[in-house]
Amino acid sequence: MSHYSLFVIRYSLSFALLFTACRPAPPVPLRLEWPTMGTIAAVQCADTAAAPQARDIAQRTFQALDNELSAWNPASTLSAVNAAAGTPQPVAVSSNFATILQTALTYCADTEGAFNPLIGPVMQAWGFNGVPRPIRPADEDLAALLTRTRWHDVHLATGAQTTVRLATPGMKLDLGAIAKGYAVDVAWERLKAAGHTNLLIDLGGNLRALGEAAPERGGWRTGVRNPFQSNALVGKFLMHDGEAVATSGNYERFVEIDGLRYAHIMDGRTGQPVTGMAGVTVIAPDAMTADALSTALFILGPQRGVALLRDRPGCEALWIPDTPDQLTLLATPGFATRLTPVGNTPYRLTVVTGQPD
Ligand code: ADP
Ligand code: MG
Repeated sequence: MSHYSLFVIRYSLSFALLFTACRPAPPVPLRLEWPTMGTIAAVQCADTAAAPQARDIAQRTFQALDNELSAWNPASTLSAVNAAAGTPQPVAVSSNFATILQTALTYCADTEGAFNPLIGPVMQAWGFNGVPRPIRPADEDLAALLTRTRWHDVHLATGAQTTVRLATPGMKLDLGAIAKGYAVDVAWERLKAAGHTNLLIDLGGNLRALGEAAPERGGWRTGVRNPFQSNALVGKFLMHDGEAVATSGNYERFVEIDGLRYAHIMDGRTGQPVTGMAGVTVIAPDAMTADALSTALFILGPQRGVALLRDRPGCEALWIPDTPDQLTLLATPGFATRLTPVGNTPYRLTVVTGQPD
């Protein structure tokens, strides 16, 4: 090798090193948070200067939807619909309300009532209405309450005016399993229309990506939480432009009755809190789908859940059963290939395909 070529190699090497050393790391996206809809919302912006405007748009969107959909606010449209249950009087609702309700009723039919937006009276019976000392509802009381969760008794009329009427007294809509996802989609559309190109919206764990973060990052880094250890992850994956992610877990909202914990997701078919599942994470093409599916798949479990995913392209799911001694993950093939383990938490991963064993 001539002196010259040795020189070229040496110099190009040191230039390469110099270049790597000087090249700025991709900017850390700026995350702005605020409380809303009973949880914490955030926007995370690759362009930090765009963050305050993005936050304002998302904040206004979530507040307006909460005013319509909150089960806790007596002035909300949802409260007016519930208060009129059993009367002949239909209540006027917005197109947003109608879209969420229609979608929720479709999931209800598709899951044979396991997912049911009329779960309100059952939630109350189990103490999810802020009572200080919840007691276990009697079986006959639950059976009576299930007569108020018949989804054919919801009359959604679209015409000159969109209205809702709940036919049976005591019926109560609860859109908590789907409303946050829908709100994220509305915010996503508005942010996109306002010219934002690169951010992540987070409404209490309902995420949707716009853009790809930075090219070096290859997407928005997203973690799957370890349900048995707060602040620990079991795995991570990348979210791409337009994708949504939602998680339903048994660890954030629960009531304690006689020393036992009951999570805030009910099986609509029985009126009993779901047991045996710790967390479900769903990737979907939009946030309402991710939100509804995460709750529905939490109730159905992996074996019945894969059937619900069959005709839904772009939807992938990960189930973590409530077995703290043996961390087990069950994932659809598309989720399994995207998931990278984090740290040194050992787990067993099984791929669920929907084919009989
Ligand atoms: P989070 O609201 O914590 O993000 P989910 O999206 O899974 O979690 O929604 C849970 C909420 O869904 C409950 O707090 C309740 O309002 C509602 N819910 C509970 N059980 C059902 C059910 N079987 N069908 C529809 N909604 C339900
Ligand atoms: Mg949900």
